[in-house]
Amino acid sequence: MPPDGAPGKKNALQITSSSKSPSPTNHEIIRQRHGQGPLYSISEAFFRFTIQWVAVALMPMIHLQPDCLFVENRFVADMGITIDDDGIVQHIGTVPDEHTRVVKLAGQALMPGFVNSHSHVFQRLLRGRVEAATPQASFWSWRKHMYALVDSLTPERLGLIARYTFMEMVWSGYTTVREFHYVHHNADGTPYDDPHEMVYRLIAAANEAQINLHLLRVAYPNAEESTQRRFSDPDIEQAIAITDDLRNRVSIPVGIAPHSIRAVSPDGFRRCLEWANHVGAECHAHIAEQPKEVAWAQETYGARPLQLIADTAPLSTAFTAVHATHLNEAEIQRAGSIGIHVCFCPTTEANLGDGVPRTHDILTAGAQLAIGSDSQTEIDPFAELRLLEYNERNRLGRRRVLDPGALLEASTESLDIGKPARLVTIEQGHPSVAGASVSELPSALVMSGQRGCISGVYRGATNIRRHPPASLMQEIIAPSD
Ligand SMILES: [Zn+2]
Repeated sequence: MPPDGAPGKKNALQITSSSKSPSPTNHEIIRQRHGQGPLYSISEAFFRFTIQWVAVALMPMIHLQPDCLFVENRFVADMGITIDDDGIVQHIGTVPDEHTRVVKLAGQALMPGFVNSHSHVFQRLLRGRVEAATPQASFWSWRKHMYALVDSLTPERLGLIARYTFMEMVWSGYTTVREFHYVHHNADGTPYDDPHEMVYRLIAAANEAQINLHLLRVAYPNAEESTQRRFSDPDIEQAIAITDDLRNRVSIPVGIAPHSIRAVSPDGFRRCLEWANHVGAECHAHIAEQPKEVAWAQETYGARPLQLIADTAPLSTAFTAVHATHLNEAEIQRAGSIGIHVCFCPTTEANLGDGVPRTHDILTAGAQLAIGSDSQTEIDPFAELRLLEYNERNRLGRRRVLDPGALLEASTESLDIGKPARLVTIEQGHPSVAGASVSELPSALVMSGQRGCISGVYRGATNIRRHPPASLMQEIIAPSD
């Protein structure tokens, strides 16, 4: 399983019956702090007791007490979260003891932060710039604009764009991002003096924005166009070796991302997945985003992309198929039987005219859901979830296809004792959700929630939500405009 949170803690089709809704009392999850040792001598026990008492007196734990808390697909009234001084969840339930400082979040609902499982952070600069109506505009013409932007990137510029965009993600309720990173090298394809220069810029930006960054280093050995030299390492073995080296140099989770079947051979996929499974890393890839890609794979290899990869490589639950827009029935059943994650990016897919994935079928088969802001055409988890559901309603000609509570559960962080607290608060009186009862709130958030209803983003017990500074965007766009 992934180190933290989504993708895919639970199948988004899981529906929790309201009749199962327990009272806050019997639903309470009360756990003791970890590390209760065995038996101590009397003097040692006294010493430990004194130290703990002093620690509690100096650094009391904080209990965030909202009107309701999102737990297991639904909101429950009168529950809160107790967080220690290191920002770790120590208790979920009512106030644990008199030493705990209670912070009341009146009129607020509390829930885990959203996980953005697919991002190309630099593409934020394309927003609004490639939308004018033009005959024959397509994914492939959009890609030309995107490649022109790639050509303009320097480490400094990437760092600035990432700072702004990660801040916008936090402001929008995302607390973790999985960055699918492929601009590795100088424009002529030569590595920077430090081959991880671009990654260090991303890490610095994430630290500043206070977002939890997972880095997926892209393998792209088959460069055919000049821009792609920036993405490409000499061969798949060297791409894996550089990723392995990066993993040993940085403290964030690092996985590997064979870009797509266009850029990596089936055998290359096999090597990436073998490495990922061996070291316990995640492996992500673009899968069947465009019909042209599927046709190319059939022509070149005689099989569709996911079928090809599943036949060749050791797929596991650590694999995330991004998009999976054009899967046939056999591929859907294959994905489900293995339990891979599928990361849908509905606003980007709609923006690029990719098509509509068979989300309900994919999840029913057993795959696990994640969402991503991908091209950053929008950065809004509610918009992604809403479009996912509306795509299915239009495709199937019916209503209420995916369970809203399960969608929220699958697209947010794990809420566990002993894990970092990454949380968001929802202003229940915000016009986009006002009037919804506690039990109706998941539906209201998915069907009408706006970013403005997010009143706080918490890292530990600290609200870190702030507007990305306009001056930063001015600094980014100044050189070209
Ligand atoms: Zn992508």
